[in-house]
Amino acid sequence: MEVSPLRIAMLSVHSCPVGKLGTKDTGGMSVYIRELAREMGRRGHLVDIYTRSHGSACDKVVDLGTNVRLVHLGAGDGEAVNKAGLFPSLEDFFRELEASRSSEALRYDLVHSHYWLSGQVGWWAQERWRIPHLLMFHTLGAVKNALFHRQVEPELRITTEKQLAADCDRILAASEREKEHLVRFCGVPREAVGVVPCGVDLGRFRPVGKARAREQLGLDPDESVLLYVGRFAALKGIDRLLEATAHLKRNRDLRLMLVGGDGEQTPESRELTSLSRRLGILDRVTFVGRVDHEDMPFYYSAADVLALPSHYESFGLVALESLACGTPVVTTQVGAMERIIRQDETGCVVQDASPPTLAEAMEAFLPGSKVLPAEEIRASVLDWSWSGVASAMIHEYALLLEKKRQECTGGPSADVPIVQTDTLI
Ligand code: UDP
Repeated sequence: MEVSPLRIAMLSVHSCPVGKLGTKDTGGMSVYIRELAREMGRRGHLVDIYTRSHGSACDKVVDLGTNVRLVHLGAGDGEAVNKAGLFPSLEDFFRELEASRSSEALRYDLVHSHYWLSGQVGWWAQERWRIPHLLMFHTLGAVKNALFHRQVEPELRITTEKQLAADCDRILAASEREKEHLVRFCGVPREAVGVVPCGVDLGRFRPVGKARAREQLGLDPDESVLLYVGRFAALKGIDRLLEATAHLKRNRDLRLMLVGGDGEQTPESRELTSLSRRLGILDRVTFVGRVDHEDMPFYYSAADVLALPSHYESFGLVALESLACGTPVVTTQVGAMERIIRQDETGCVVQDASPPTLAEAMEAFLPGSKVLPAEEIRASVLDWSWSGVASAMIHEYALLLEKKRQECTGGPSADVPIVQTDTLI
């Protein structure tokens, strides 16, 4: 897409986009921001990502690639407060953002905020700087509360999300399902929401060969290997994956690898360990811990199946990474799963999320079943590059900027930005 170079302020207040993936508050959203910003930078757009400082050890400004800077601001002083606990310090964050911007005499063309906390800061920027504001919630508090049938997310988040959804200039969602959530839970008109999905780094995520990957990781070449990748959060449904694994164990030499989490001593890990013990599968479960993103292709390639047993995902990036590595995915009906999986070929989206159903679906992709070759599975996701995501996002930016321009001048311009839609996903 040809759009004259834009200067973009991206906001990721609570989570640093180069933080440790798989830990408490750092996951797909960080990858999304980082990869999108880098792709935009490569195309000549200037992107500054603002996040809160996480201690004195981090540099104030970090170069993330061509035309992309990560700027740490002092709100919260890096203390590990809970997310909603950051809300009172957001005004300070905005004050610092404003000071940083004016000290460099920067003028942004638009502000793109991620998650509700950043959305609040983005709204102040929208008002003060008089520039368009795009907001991506990544997850919604109201959906989490509905799923768990109780108030797991504070009222502050629910009301702020509704207000921001009404006040920002454009809402973006990573999947059609999340768009429907916005309509249903935040009362947003469908046309106010654009869908720009996640992508995958196809250079990094590729099959390395099952035998080689298993040798590298010290895994038994003959075991059936199930894999889970992600944060250890209740809404990820790891407990039902453990139960499904217990079903499968009856007739299988099996290993379940759990990648991610904040270490063995956290309550989440301890609970999963004791559930594994109760189910009689503790010797079958490997708590791998956190793995660097660049090493993930070995884990995906070593596995027979990636399981995504979540209650809720706004997209479900790990499924895309797994498919790019040639490994089938068994998943619940979350995020963009129906769009990226070819049912019963590259994986299975289960009709119900009960452990026996998950077990039956995984069985169909384990050794002894007819499974597509890794390269064929990978071929099914070759359109999902970050470059395509950046094209779709720039298209959104261009449409919004033109709409705003028309609102100011009262008519269409002769030089509407040229938008090539051929690379859009
Ligand atoms: N991830 C990682 N190391 C880990 C665990 C997770 O690099 O130990 C990465 C994983 O490869 C993916 C992201 O974290 O890129 C998780 O994204 P997803 O959308 O699946 O989950 P979210 O965290 O957003 O709920």
